[in-house]
Amino acid sequence: MARREAPAAGPGSRALIVDVIRSAAEISRVELADLTGLTQPSISNIVRDLIADGIIHEVGSADSIRGKPRKLIAIKPANRFGIGFHLGPDTVTCVAVDLTGGVVGREVVPRLSADRLAGRFDDFTAGLDLPRGRIEGLAIVAPTPYPGDAFALGGLPALRADPAGQGLPAPAAGLAEQGLPALRADLAERLGLPVMVENDAAAAALGEFWSRRVSREQAFGCIYLGTGIGAGFVFGGALFRGASFDAGELGHMSIHYDGLECPCGNRGCVERYASMPAVVATARADHALNGRLGLDTMATTSSAYDAVARAAVSGDVTAFDVLDRAAGHLSVAATSMVNLLDLGRVVLTGPGAALAGSIYARRLRAHLERTAHSRKRHPILVELSAQPRDAAAIGAAALIVQAAVAPGHTSAPAGSAQPAGGRPG
Ligand SMILES: [Zn+2]
Repeated sequence: MARREAPAAGPGSRALIVDVIRSAAEISRVELADLTGLTQPSISNIVRDLIADGIIHEVGSADSIRGKPRKLIAIKPANRFGIGFHLGPDTVTCVAVDLTGGVVGREVVPRLSADRLAGRFDDFTAGLDLPRGRIEGLAIVAPTPYPGDAFALGGLPALRADPAGQGLPAPAAGLAEQGLPALRADLAERLGLPVMVENDAAAAALGEFWSRRVSREQAFGCIYLGTGIGAGFVFGGALFRGASFDAGELGHMSIHYDGLECPCGNRGCVERYASMPAVVATARADHALNGRLGLDTMATTSSAYDAVARAAVSGDVTAFDVLDRAAGHLSVAATSMVNLLDLGRVVLTGPGAALAGSIYARRLRAHLERTAHSRKRHPILVELSAQPRDAAAIGAAALIVQAAVAPGHTSAPAGSAQPAGGRPG
C-alpha cells in the first residue's frame, strides 16, 4: 500500500489523534501513525501531552512482530466528565458521561423553569460527587423549534448563532428570541463552565457516534423518534449542522406530493405519518384499540404511545399494524436520506424507539436492502440505540466531552476561551 506523505502536525492533529484512539479503543503509537498519516515524532509529542493532561493513558502492551512489545494507549475514562440536560416536554433528563461516553450518572426530574437549571446542575453533580474541576461543561438540548415558539425551543437557533468570534451565520428573521442567549450566558457565568446548546437529534447522533466508537471514516446517521422525527449526521468525526444549525429535519421530508398538510407549510411530511403523535392519533381512531388500551384516559402523548408500543410487541395485532405502517412510512424517508448522503450506518433512537424500536428497525433494514442506491457497494447497517430514552441527554454530555478533548469538530462552547479544554475561572 502506498504510504501517504506525512502531513505536518497542526492544531487539528490533537483532535484527530484523540478521535482515532476513541474509535480504536486501544491502539499503539505505530498504528496511530499509520492511521493518521502523522510522523512518529509528532505522534510521540502529542501523545505525551495527552497523557500529561490526563486524557489518555497507557493500558498495557501487545506483542509485536519485531519482538519489542508495543505499548497500547486508550482514552482515560474517569478523569473528566461532561454533563447533558435534555429538556423534554414534561421532564428534564440529566446525564453525566466520562471521556469514553460511558454514563456515570442519570436523573430525571419534572420540567424546571430556566432559573432553576443552575441549581439542578449543582444538585446533580454534587449527588454524583463529581469534583467541579473535572467537569468540562454543560450542554442543554431540546427539539428544534418552529420560528416564534416560546422559551427553550424558540431560542435555540439564535443562541447558537450568538457567541462572538465563532463566525456563525446570523439567525433567520423571527428566530432571534432573547430567552436562551441570556440563559446560556447566565448559566455559563453562574457555573463558571462552558455551556452549549444543540438540538436533540443532532446531540443524540454525536452521542451514539462517540460511545459506539464509530470510526470517523464512516458516514454516520441517527434517526431520532421523539415528538417529531429528527436526524443527526456525523461526517469525518464532526457533527453536520447545515447553514443555520437546522440540518436533519427528517420529519419534514415529504413522502407524498399530495399528502397531509403539515404545520411547517409542506405537504406529506413523514412526521405526519410516523411520529409518536401520529401513531397515537392512528391508534385512537381505531375504536376497539382505543378502548382496549384506554388511550383516551392517558394524559400525555408519550404514555399513550408507550401503551400502543407495549401492546404491539406483546402480540396485539392491531397495535402492531399501526406501528408497522408508521415504520413503513419512515422507511421511505430513510431511503431518501441514506441516498442523499450515502450513509453506511444508521442508529434508531429517541423515546419512540424505546419499546417499539425493533418494529422500526426491521422495516428500515428490509426497505434499505431493497431500495438504497448504494446497497451493492456497501452494507447499510441499521442499529438500535442501547439507551433510546436518554440518547439526547447522553449526546449532550458527549458534545461537551468532544469539545473538551477533541476540539475542532464542534464550535467552541460559550464561555470557553480556549478550544483545548480551556475553562474560565
Ligand atoms: Zn412538515
